[in-house]
Amino acid sequence: MDFFPAKELQNSRISGWNFDNSYLRLPKEFYTRLDPVNVKEPHMVVFNRELAEELGLEVDGAVGESLPAVFSGNSLPKGAQPFSQAYAGHQFGHFTMLGDGRASVLGEHLSPQGQRVDIQLKGSGRTPYSRGGDGRATLKSMLREYLISEAIHYLGIPGTRSLAVIFTGEGVPRERLHPGGILTRVAASHLRIGTFEYAIKFTSLKKMRLLLDYTIQRHYPQLADAPIPALALLQEVMIRQIDLVVHWLRVGFIHGVMNTDNTTISGEAIDYGPCAFLNVYDPSTVYSSIDTAGRYSFGNQPKILHWNLSVFAGALLPLIDANLEKAKGMAAEVLERFNSLYREKWLAAMGQKLGLIEINSGDEAMIQDFLDWMKANKMDYTNAFHSLLLEEKITPTEENDQQFSQWYERWYQRINSGQTRQRAADCMKKVNPVYIPRNHLVEKALDDAGLKGDFTLFNELMNTLKRPYEIQNVDETFIKVPEGFDRSYQTFCGT
Ligand code: AMP
Ligand code: MG
Repeated sequence: MDFFPAKELQNSRISGWNFDNSYLRLPKEFYTRLDPVNVKEPHMVVFNRELAEELGLEVDGAVGESLPAVFSGNSLPKGAQPFSQAYAGHQFGHFTMLGDGRASVLGEHLSPQGQRVDIQLKGSGRTPYSRGGDGRATLKSMLREYLISEAIHYLGIPGTRSLAVIFTGEGVPRERLHPGGILTRVAASHLRIGTFEYAIKFTSLKKMRLLLDYTIQRHYPQLADAPIPALALLQEVMIRQIDLVVHWLRVGFIHGVMNTDNTTISGEAIDYGPCAFLNVYDPSTVYSSIDTAGRYSFGNQPKILHWNLSVFAGALLPLIDANLEKAKGMAAEVLERFNSLYREKWLAAMGQKLGLIEINSGDEAMIQDFLDWMKANKMDYTNAFHSLLLEEKITPTEENDQQFSQWYERWYQRINSGQTRQRAADCMKKVNPVYIPRNHLVEKALDDAGLKGDFTLFNELMNTLKRPYEIQNVDETFIKVPEGFDRSYQTFCGT
């Protein structure tokens, strides 16, 4: 097996780290200081040069640490103080103590632009939070996170980034022995709803206050002077997370495990396990093999977000008011705004997909009618919107589809009234991707790369997904799903 597509990087060095590890100033209950567990023989597999540059990291120079050594955790860059975070969470509705069972935050790097990001190794070995797990990850699953997280970024959606993937030189036993991998994840932070659930359950009010202050300082300093900062935080996280889920609905993304430990305080998308993109439009679509009840189906994501935010509110109560009944009332008032806020943001986003710069009365029904028609006719979500942009009539069957023609006339008149068609087209181009990570391509790319060491498709796919809104000269398979592929397609947590 040849796992050296980034051979030229094997002997490179990296410098430019600028660590300032503020999280370690929180009480000790929130983390465990622990170095990553060394791996046998690390090899560079993928490296994100654009991101490294953005972060002010320099590669190729004669100074600094060896690339594979740093990104495997075998050697620590200057200023790193590795730790694993403690957190809890509701997984499929059930509270559990979790924590970084296979991740190590090397520290917080400050970029030249003054951006503070966590540099985390995922798959870095056992920690006190590993429970029964081995602390490791398969190369394939880390390549999956790399590909999807970067695709999400280039789609214009806030999410964690991926800086590097290495092959550990070790096998990881899963259903069979897999090549092991470690991903370097870059995140605004790893604070999540689950961090607050952990705080209320296992620490004191005083420590919860420290966590709250830290969070506000790090992500929402403007809230520090709010009359009730915890309440303001609840509202701000609600807004950010609604924006995120609306983005997902816009591009057809199904996260797959929207547990509260995977809902960030920053509003970034995180953890790309069993996630997948929708092909045929159907809100009940679920690809994850473990989501048998459809809790995290495409169309259920807003509802689950509301549920997760209620858990967040519950964990913030003592910080909102010492009188819990009063605190509950205030939190409920914030959460009551969820539905109308979500509706407004969703309508605006879906309106833009149809070229509507403003939403008028009647637009909501027009949007819904198009969705219903897509569902009834099993239309591809991405391609249907793109065809509209090209003003191509979409007819699902040979015979003329009356229902669609009528809808199309209605839409066509609408985009020509009160705005110009050019403005409609410009608007549509920005929000309707031509390319998404199609499941059939992702699977093939990962099998080729993660099992055979062949990165041809992986690289081609990644390159295409860097410009998802532009038509490119690529194979038809990039937009066309093989007949019947979706019916049996399933994703696995694939750790
Ligand atoms: P995730 O589904 O990736 O959000 O992970 C949920 C929890 O399981 C987190 O606490 C992880 O650290 C933990 N976990 C996942 N895989 C492993 C593993 N191989 N070893 C130890 N802990 C793991
Ligand atoms: Mg997680």
